[in-house]
Amino acid sequence: MRRIEPHIHMVTRTTDDYEAMARAGFEVVVEPAFWAGFDRGTSRGFADYYHQLTVAEPARAAIYGLKHYTWICLNPKEAEDLALAEDVLQIIPDFLDRDNVLGVGEIGLNKNSRNELAVLERHIELADQRGEMILVHTPHLEDKRKGTLMIMDAICNHSGIDRGRVIIDHAEEHTVGEIKDRGFWVGLTLYPTTKCTPARAVDIIECYGADRTWMASSADWGPSDPLNTVNAGLEMLRRGHPQALVQRVLWDNPVEFLSQSPRFKV
Ligand SMILES: [Zn+2]
Repeated sequence: MRRIEPHIHMVTRTTDDYEAMARAGFEVVVEPAFWAGFDRGTSRGFADYYHQLTVAEPARAAIYGLKHYTWICLNPKEAEDLALAEDVLQIIPDFLDRDNVLGVGEIGLNKNSRNELAVLERHIELADQRGEMILVHTPHLEDKRKGTLMIMDAICNHSGIDRGRVIIDHAEEHTVGEIKDRGFWVGLTLYPTTKCTPARAVDIIECYGADRTWMASSADWGPSDPLNTVNAGLEMLRRGHPQALVQRVLWDNPVEFLSQSPRFKV
């Protein structure tokens, strides 16, 4: 089966991970911009990170035969300093023009604060003006449902944005239904033990169907597993789901969504 990892933070991963992914049949990795594990202090730090995402990491991925795409934004975790956020928003359009960039992401909320919402709104405006696709990060644990609704409301205020070109990631049992009802795509990000495990993700597919849904490992600098979508596929087969459904969730759907960007080719 052909494989794609539609949400992973390769800058935090070792070359062993690239090798393991290549061996498992992965052809493409897609890397949204995110928090580095520490707050960057200047827009220069962000420019260096965006350079890494658009130049250095694609070159590293290519060594292992993987195509690398990315999304650019300022992460909600770093949105509290509004002056810095404004500086960073000034440099983002230049990077959105680069060849491996699919859109604005992963934007969203972390603690659902006023400043996070202000910076989210600036990103949505930018995406609306430029006709960019959007990848959304939703808060974890107790903030998730409220934050997901706030984000969807903010996007729905922009009538020019096609919800079929927006994916709401880190979705869980209590948010998937409303995300689908509003016409957005659903991302299920898998974690080894915390948050959404492969087994829970398969439960969600069984409850809500596979339409407009992808799974990703979202592997980063924390406990995570870049091959976790393989585990989810095996869990689907173990429960008796057909191979075609596995392929739909793990390959067809992400490729269909991402192919809405003219830059995305597999
Ligand atoms: Zn992420």
